[in-house]
Amino acid sequence: MIHIQKEENFSDWYNDIVERAQLSDKRYPIKGMNVWTAYGWKVMRQIDSYIREELDRTGHDEVSFPLLIPETEFQKEKEHIKGFDSEVYWVTHAGANELDVRLVLRPTSETAMYPMFALWVRSHSDLPLKVYQLVNTFRYETKQTRSFIRVREIHFFESHTCHVDEEDAQRQVEEDFVILDRIMRKLCLPYSLLRRTEWDKFPGAHYTVGIDTSMPNGRSLQIGSIHHYLTNFSKPYEISYETEDGGREFAHQTTFGMSERLVGAVIGVHGDDKGLVLPPDVAPLQVVIIPIPMKGKAEVVQKAAEDIGARLQSCGLRVKVDDRDERPGSKFFDWEIRGVPLRLELGMRDMEGGVVTYARRDNGEKGTIPLEDLEKGTVSMLEKISEDMNAKAWEKHRGSVADVESLDDPPAKTLRFGWCGEEVCGQTIEEKFGLTLLGTPYGKDGERRSCIVCGAESEKLGHAARSM
Ligand code: ZN
Repeated sequence: MIHIQKEENFSDWYNDIVERAQLSDKRYPIKGMNVWTAYGWKVMRQIDSYIREELDRTGHDEVSFPLLIPETEFQKEKEHIKGFDSEVYWVTHAGANELDVRLVLRPTSETAMYPMFALWVRSHSDLPLKVYQLVNTFRYETKQTRSFIRVREIHFFESHTCHVDEEDAQRQVEEDFVILDRIMRKLCLPYSLLRRTEWDKFPGAHYTVGIDTSMPNGRSLQIGSIHHYLTNFSKPYEISYETEDGGREFAHQTTFGMSERLVGAVIGVHGDDKGLVLPPDVAPLQVVIIPIPMKGKAEVVQKAAEDIGARLQSCGLRVKVDDRDERPGSKFFDWEIRGVPLRLELGMRDMEGGVVTYARRDNGEKGTIPLEDLEKGTVSMLEKISEDMNAKAWEKHRGSVADVESLDDPPAKTLRFGWCGEEVCGQTIEEKFGLTLLGTPYGKDGERRSCIVCGAESEKLGHAARSM
């Protein structure tokens, strides 16, 4: 079998891996609306479970809003509608009747939620209001679609909050960064927080922080965003509350969103020429046990493999004993494609020595774990894999950024440079390098450089890259 090399042709490699690992089926007869097949959906559900865990832990309530939004509500915030107008799907008929008010399939849920928030938020004691949902959103993508990365029906997470003032909303943004970091550790995904430019921020936002990771082909992939809205939405949607002294104020709002792109990032960042490499916290199966049969002893080995499986399962691990009637080599191959983090092999020699042989998917390391130490040894091995995957991915991410001093320097992958923050200089930079200006590091001031276009001194460093 000929494998596509990740380093040589990332794009084809990615499509090939998605197909061979059976993560998604894109043959559904609507382009960009793919079927979540069982294995891919298990990965997504695992990620969703961490999102729920984190959001619940921080006092958010899960809700579920209708998919359809009346045009009248959708158009209340002018910037917002401008930003989404060209990429929404419309429902124009109900049966044979043309609708008086057309309906939008949600591209995101501000305009679905905020008319309701206006009813829910009455007094300062109703604040903060913190809700989230995990739903499908729809956007008419005109660029070439790609599983998990650029699709038209998107599995989406969004949290929406309302606060008494700008400061309390800002505290929420800071909390979102902590939530994000805890989730990213589990996915072993490195990221940058870049405050988007004024012309690239979310339509209607006061500011947007993009969450970007770097893909092996040098492109930047936005995997989420966090927005501070001030009162930009609460005014048109009339989300106001009675203050302690009887006055009325508009609520300050924030949102935090991520999508199935997280799956795309996990595939792209960690995978190799043999297939997926899944972080242990995300893998539908964390350990696969493969009995190595010997003539006349097949049953003994099989029984021992099942015992090991049961022991690991009872300490909460996701385990499978592969007892298919196939050669061990072809079983190894199958589970490597699917990225199972740890393979345990058990043969007669292992049994006699009181050990089980292991092979790590992430770095190919092999060794043995004593059977008397099985549970502890396996759990700590999985933790080590997660640690090493994080370290390796972060090192690569940091290494993907190159500093440039002038517009004449050749464009590399992600560029970092002095930028005064002015739009006119920003656009010169984008044109000259043929890259997208992603923004400036969130909250990191300090190093002063001159803008590579106009020469003005600035504390912020611009980042630019080609986007996926
Ligand atoms: Zn400038």
